[in-house]
Amino acid sequence: MSHIECWDWRYRIAFEQTLRSKVDVASKTTRHSLPSRIMEELFDFFVNHLSVGQMISYCCDEAGDTDSAINAAIDVEPLYTPEFLARKYYSRVSKAKRLKSQQKDALNSIIKKSTETNFINHHREIFEPIFGADLDRLLRHSQATLKPQISDKSILDRNLLELTEEIIDELLNTTPAPLRGLPEIIPDFEIVIAKDPGFAEYWPRSLTGNDMDQLIVYDNPNQIGYQNLRATIGHEVLGHGFFYNLIERIRPEFFDHGAFALVEGWATWCEWATCDADLRDHLRSAKCQSLKLFDCVNPDEIQDQIKARTSGSGYTKDVSESSIENFFQYPGMGLSYTLGALWFEDRFKSSSPRVFFEAMRQREWGDFFSAW
Ligand SMILES: [Zn+2]
Repeated sequence: MSHIECWDWRYRIAFEQTLRSKVDVASKTTRHSLPSRIMEELFDFFVNHLSVGQMISYCCDEAGDTDSAINAAIDVEPLYTPEFLARKYYSRVSKAKRLKSQQKDALNSIIKKSTETNFINHHREIFEPIFGADLDRLLRHSQATLKPQISDKSILDRNLLELTEEIIDELLNTTPAPLRGLPEIIPDFEIVIAKDPGFAEYWPRSLTGNDMDQLIVYDNPNQIGYQNLRATIGHEVLGHGFFYNLIERIRPEFFDHGAFALVEGWATWCEWATCDADLRDHLRSAKCQSLKLFDCVNPDEIQDQIKARTSGSGYTKDVSESSIENFFQYPGMGLSYTLGALWFEDRFKSSSPRVFFEAMRQREWGDFFSAW
């Protein structure tokens, strides 16, 4: 059994050398020709494109091996960084107490280089191997018109933990038809409420080493209402909770934990399948709109569109800035949610989740849609 445990390896292998060798070795255990070619193409792409954002986090916040990261990264082409983001990176570097001045200089020159580099939109390079001939069909969804955000019921007067428990009970007891049977495979998990940015996260015990899986729900102004929170919990619990537990049961020979289109596409499809119909129309159409950026080559236009979309959905400037950072520094991550979910939507018109996951028993688990 060969599993790639690091969920964000794609954005790290350009500078983390030990991880790079681990991913390389694990990738070579894929036995079927198409999955092994996809892993090879993803590996080659990400080893040659430096995520400056991830590198800064690694050196400033994670107490990583800064010298070795700098040595590895020095000859790699950095991904383009917009000015506002570069200012944030410079400030993090200057405030990082653990860094020596030489290391700060090296990091600052990497940031500078990334602002001077031309923006290249890499989505086609990343997604063509993953989706193959299905890609252009999926991209046609970008034509869908944007449906408005619903006027959601405020949750400001509610205790977030109690509300989360209530929603989970309701979701597990009223699962819509295509997902019926899944709640039986959802493990027990602990719920944690945290006052940090973000919406929610689901951490399987296989990744944390804890006794139990964990659902973290973030308490901040971006929890904009009841139905939106319910959609988030559907994504985390029915989507991720089910998925990770199935992996523990099936124990596939190969699993790439960083397969965003598979992992997040599935969870996003679950979110759409369980949430309020008007909200689903909004969430789905907003994701389809994000596909307009798939081939866009103008970085200013990309930033404007992301700002308009996040504020149109009712989110704060923080969400808009982190979405912009994701787009430029974590290429492929955001659109994986959309493309994966749309692929599942098409597949389940003629099949069902049960049939799909039954077939997955014999398959290697990664972003190998073109092989399915
Ligand atoms: Zn998710």
